[in-house]
Amino acid sequence: MKFLISFAAVLAMGSSVLAEDRAGAPVTIVIHGGAGALEPGRYTPEEEAAFKAKLTEALDAGYAVLEEGGAALEAIEAAIVLMEDSPLFNAGKGAVFTRDGANELDASVMDGATLNAGAIAGVKTVKNPIRLARAVMENSEHVMFAREGAEAFAKEQQLELVDRGYFYTEHRWQSYRNALEREELKEQGAAPADFKYGTVGAVALDAHGNLAAGTSTGGMTLKRYGRVGDAPIIGAGTFADNKSCAVSSTGWGEYFMRLTIARDICAQVEYGGASIADAASDVIHKRLQSLGGDGGVIVLGPDGAYAMTFNTAGMFRGVKNADESRIAIYGE
Ligand code: ASP
Repeated sequence: MKFLISFAAVLAMGSSVLAEDRAGAPVTIVIHGGAGALEPGRYTPEEEAAFKAKLTEALDAGYAVLEEGGAALEAIEAAIVLMEDSPLFNAGKGAVFTRDGANELDASVMDGATLNAGAIAGVKTVKNPIRLARAVMENSEHVMFAREGAEAFAKEQQLELVDRGYFYTEHRWQSYRNALEREELKEQGAAPADFKYGTVGAVALDAHGNLAAGTSTGGMTLKRYGRVGDAPIIGAGTFADNKSCAVSSTGWGEYFMRLTIARDICAQVEYGGASIADAASDVIHKRLQSLGGDGGVIVLGPDGAYAMTFNTAGMFRGVKNADESRIAIYGE
């Protein structure tokens, strides 16, 4: 017994030493800007360059935080805010329209060191939903706020609020009009054939060995009033635990919720000893695929191993660490 106690004490000491030792953790950030029917030729070279430039900017902003010794949470927020502020992605400005022609935003964040999490659903006036999710995590005793309550909390937290018109972009409005027309013509299946999910997300590993994950979205075009997707659901759209991995999802939210995709990947790693790549592949290419859903995930482990896995034609994505800096859109 005595031996056990002293052994435990040594282990406890060891873990604090380990925390410091992990100051050498291989800092890494992985981001996504949505998955979908992204075939080469879908965009003009100019459009493609614009997507790549914004992804690079987000990746660099997040990585700069990590390089300076900043926290994984700071890094993912820096990357996601840039993508939320860009009209190119379906998050913040540029969010898709609901059936009622409005924008309702969802987001979540999770800290892999503490398992603290924050999420918000259905907000209409918060410029950066990811900041609100983080404020919920850090400054409230709750994990999730929805709609009016979330807006009130945003005000209380003095986060930037905007007119609803701020989120409008011509191309999303056109997609909305086209989707309505297709529906009227009864040409639409459960999801349009050329569907592109434009959610944004990031996972990061900081120099202290801590993981974090975050996801932000406008949801899916023509979603009904009050529909909440997977992005703000901890365990579906977002999950992070230093013991296994950090995940951010994009895709057909209803499937990601039913399969608790993010948590399942980390559980396979934690309980089953699966590698990051195998766990991501199993969940996306087998479980999600066989249920009929589509989308992708970015996954990052505490040793810097990562995966960017999708069963759609492409996924806006990028990774940056000491050895590589890479952006991609289409399948490889
Ligand atoms: N997963 C999001 C949702 O279902 C959509 C997306 O990834 O773009 O709300």
